[in-house]
Amino acid sequence: MPPGAVAADTTQQVHVSPYGSAKKFYVDVAFKCKDCGADEVWTGEQQKWFYEVAKGSLYATAVRCRDCRNRLNDQRELQRKQMDAADEAKRNG
Ligand SMILES: [Zn+2]
Repeated sequence: MPPGAVAADTTQQVHVSPYGSAKKFYVDVAFKCKDCGADEVWTGEQQKWFYEVAKGSLYATAVRCRDCRNRLNDQRELQRKQMDAADEAKRNG
């Protein structure tokens, strides 16, 4: 295991294919945010949480920085609220 790597619990990972290889450990991954181009690091700890707790696909990887993810979540939340409000207006005629 490389220094600084986080040990993986392969029994908690979601295997989409029996031939896919499990991740034995997680190392920090540097990537560029696809929305704003910011240089970001997806840490081993975050990967462990994503793959083992959030049950993310082993083929998925981080593409957006925290700011852009938060903005996206806010937008979805806002859209949901607007739709709720529209439904409410319809019901009230
Ligand atoms: Zn970003």
